[in-house]
Amino acid sequence: KAGLDMAIVNAGQLGIYQEIEPNLLRHIEDVLFNRDEHATDRLIDFARTVSGEAREVERDLAWRDASVTDRITHALVRGIADFIVEDTELARQQFDHPLKVIEGPLMDGMSVVGDLFGAGKMFLPQVVKSARVMKRAVAHLIPFIEAEKQAAGDTRALAKIVMATVKGDVHDIGKNIVGVVLQCNNFEVIDLGVMVPMKDILDAAEREKADIVGLSGLITPSLEEMVFVAREMQKRGMDLPLLIGGATTSRTHTAVKVAPAYRGATVHVKDASRAVGVVASLLSRDQRAGFISKVADEYATVRARHAERQGSTTLVALSEARANRLATDWPAYEARVPHKPGIHSFDDYPLEELLPYIDWTPFFMTWQLAGKYPRILDDAVVGEQARQLHADALHMLNDIVKNKRLRARAVVGLFPANAVNSEDIAVFADDTRREPLAVVHSLRQQARKPAGQPNFALADFLAPQDSTVHDYIGAFAVTAGIGLDVIVKGYEAEHDDYSAIMAKSLADRLAEAFAECLHQRVRKELWGYARDEKLATDDLIAERYRGIRPAPGYPACPDHTEKRLLWQLLEVEQRSGIQLTESFAMYPAASVCGWYFAHPDSRYFGVGKIGRDQVADYAERKGMSIAEAERWLAPNLSYDPDE
Ligand code: SAH
Repeated sequence: KAGLDMAIVNAGQLGIYQEIEPNLLRHIEDVLFNRDEHATDRLIDFARTVSGEAREVERDLAWRDASVTDRITHALVRGIADFIVEDTELARQQFDHPLKVIEGPLMDGMSVVGDLFGAGKMFLPQVVKSARVMKRAVAHLIPFIEAEKQAAGDTRALAKIVMATVKGDVHDIGKNIVGVVLQCNNFEVIDLGVMVPMKDILDAAEREKADIVGLSGLITPSLEEMVFVAREMQKRGMDLPLLIGGATTSRTHTAVKVAPAYRGATVHVKDASRAVGVVASLLSRDQRAGFISKVADEYATVRARHAERQGSTTLVALSEARANRLATDWPAYEARVPHKPGIHSFDDYPLEELLPYIDWTPFFMTWQLAGKYPRILDDAVVGEQARQLHADALHMLNDIVKNKRLRARAVVGLFPANAVNSEDIAVFADDTRREPLAVVHSLRQQARKPAGQPNFALADFLAPQDSTVHDYIGAFAVTAGIGLDVIVKGYEAEHDDYSAIMAKSLADRLAEAFAECLHQRVRKELWGYARDEKLATDDLIAERYRGIRPAPGYPACPDHTEKRLLWQLLEVEQRSGIQLTESFAMYPAASVCGWYFAHPDSRYFGVGKIGRDQVADYAERKGMSIAEAERWLAPNLSYDPDE
């Protein structure tokens, strides 16, 4: 009404105007509207009368007056860890046996949490916080329970689930979340950690008399490893249900590849919120048989549909795909000569410089809150949770940055390079371009394309050697995960999964932000073809710049084994400490690597399905057997190599 044209507000912090205390409102309005010259003094005087009243004090502690069991339930549902040890101790004194505290109020409280989560009325971050309360309480009780071992006979038999991230894979955020959610529902979870060999998983399952085995993995080679585990379970004559989960797993893969290898029930679990339902059905005497046969029927249908599709994919011959490569007028092409070629290492990169490059949307996805940042903060359904989670994240991030609790390292390199043999890329040490340092292998799309659309291979973005154009390629590997293990162990020792998972998800964000930040420095300084680039965070996240940084294992270059070349070329391990596992996962997990291309038409694409002709050609170029190439390229094969 007073004529304000525009304002910038933090909608997340907007109070309701009518609810502002009238006296306070009057003083503030007097200042805002400049009603008279004494308004400021009056507000300062008024502020003095309220100073010292920390917000904390306003926290509603009325729930503390309820009975101790109600207080425990309240603390679990709200995720309040502050009083849980003292309340648990009180409850212990009231019950005739410490175990009864777990079986009574604690489990009752967790059931409420489980029900609310199942009904979509609680969200993952809250559940993980509840689990923290539960774990603290249990940790307090354990010494008493141990001391009264004689009563151990009446332990309620909990169903046991042995879980592991398979050999060669290091990702465990999703698995940890599933573990926490299952524990909230009173299942006992034995988490074997990451990179667990098949034998250890199955030995543990047998030793612990597990009721269920759960396998997790993120990268595509883990898909094969899961099939090996299923086969081994078959060989050992096991029949426990097998759960499959993780980013690259799918219902189709489980139905087509894993389930046929094993006689026991094999079920794909899409995300943490489904895990409880699946486990409960598998363990329920009444529902078990029905559930298993329902899944078996469903997977049979998936297999049939998959088989039909197999035949119907029309691929063109590799020679035809090559003829339809991306056309570039090479004689007219101006390759950008790097300003600073060679290898550059960055150690202890200032974390605060990475903050503006953080893409928060995937962070909320990790915590199973759907929506795009920053809109998600005001979402009608998950907004409140998203704000709380984001506030917790910023708090921890601030601590990590200020106290240098994580260390970021990177190595990047820019090299003379040319395309050779259609899909290979020869990388040279210097501009004499004689002996290649390494030959990088790309794969070409073989799907039949509509007129005018090329069959892409990454090599198309580089000038072929016979064009005589002196072209260049870049490579990078970054990590923000050095020091993470120590942080996570510290939280785990405090039974604080919430903070442990938070730390991991933040390290992942910093690694991605580092990749974005370095890519920009490469464009502006090292390669220098976009020196004046000025882009806002949104434009960077949307990758509105020239050039790409495709990552081995992703759709444009799905073969993870190419990371070996990248490691040799950049001396990644010596310079940054990032290691490769036998499945070519990067350790620490909060790491990213890839190639840089500067061609103005370079873009991300998916190689998609490829034919036997290309697999044979590729295997030959890489000096691999066809069988080995087929193993690494399994998700991209248009045919079944066993037929
Ligand atoms: N802002 C995101 C960035 C990661 S996803 C985050 O913070 O999580 C985008 C990255 O994934 C790209 O920079 C590239 O490295 C990789 N990528 C995406 N699509 C790809 C494709 N089709 N082939 C190869 N790499 C791809």
